Amino acid sequence: MIENKIVYGSEIAKEVKLNIQTSVNELKAAGKRVPHLVVLFVGNDVGSTSYVKGKENDCNEVGFIQTTHRYDDTVSEEELLNKIEALNKDPQVDGILVQLPLPKHVNENKVLFSIDPNKDVDGFHPFNVGKMLIQEETFLPCTPKGVMYILSKLGYSDLSGLKVVVIGRSNIVGKPMGQLLLNQHATVTICHSRTSNLADEVRGADIVVAAVGIPKFVQADWIKEGAIVIDVGVNRDENNKLCGDVDTQACLEKVKYITPVPKGVGPMTRAMLLENTLQSYQKREGL
Ligand code: NAP
Repeated sequence: MIENKIVYGSEIAKEVKLNIQTSVNELKAAGKRVPHLVVLFVGNDVGSTSYVKGKENDCNEVGFIQTTHRYDDTVSEEELLNKIEALNKDPQVDGILVQLPLPKHVNENKVLFSIDPNKDVDGFHPFNVGKMLIQEETFLPCTPKGVMYILSKLGYSDLSGLKVVVIGRSNIVGKPMGQLLLNQHATVTICHSRTSNLADEVRGADIVVAAVGIPKFVQADWIKEGAIVIDVGVNRDENNKLCGDVDTQACLEKVKYITPVPKGVGPMTRAMLLENTLQSYQKREGL
């Protein structure tokens, strides 16, 4: 049954959101404040606008307070740093997220690193990246966290003895993905644009995570029979239709499970942002 091989992250995300909504309803019933996520959004990039809208909708859906501070792309670095400083101090704020990319005249790292690590619900602050590395409890970056959640739902929490190939080594997806898989005892290979014989690397994998950014890049003949394929990519194909990094249709015959694009990893990323915000709230409130 090919249909059973397609793993809809969107369905898993619904469950996660429902659980969060229940927690928020309990807080409201007890007269407590509810979690508050703040987004800083600079400019008017079309993709970023839709991501921010998605985050606003998600927060509304589960009952969080959500605030977006919008800035022209002429905003100074200082103004952003001052806003973050104020949000860091605000006891009513649980999560601070800076929508990327920022304009070229703003030092992205300086801005991201100014966020209080205890409110860094994206998990991008070096303090939290370090904690992830040594397996201390922290905010995990949302996309890799969402992938791990999907794998655990499929019965793959302990990855002992499994070979995993991650394609991509970005700071927000590939690298943390490799680390989280390693933390669950997988034998991990991280591939990138300088990898030779990429197809052969992928052929040895029990689980493949593609985070490349090239439409339908991963081919069916790279995939081992019975492998699990997680497609992180969000691209447009030749007809301007959303697609992932994997040639999904071609791979279906061979895989055990595969995540589609859309409705795969993307909704899980969003759900994990809500989870991180709730986690921050709970820690702040001593719950
Ligand atoms: P990125 O920063 O552009 O990184 C892409 C990675 O792919 C790099 O490490 C690059 O290698 C590698 N790569 C590029 N061409 C390659 C090739 N021919 N062979 C092997 N590796 C190659 O992208 P990203 O931010 O990690 O995002 C990756 C994809 O995931 C994008 O489509 C993005 O839109 C999507 N994404 C989805 C979500 C979600 O929630 N679903 C979240 C974040 C990102 P080098 O390092 O050597 O350049």
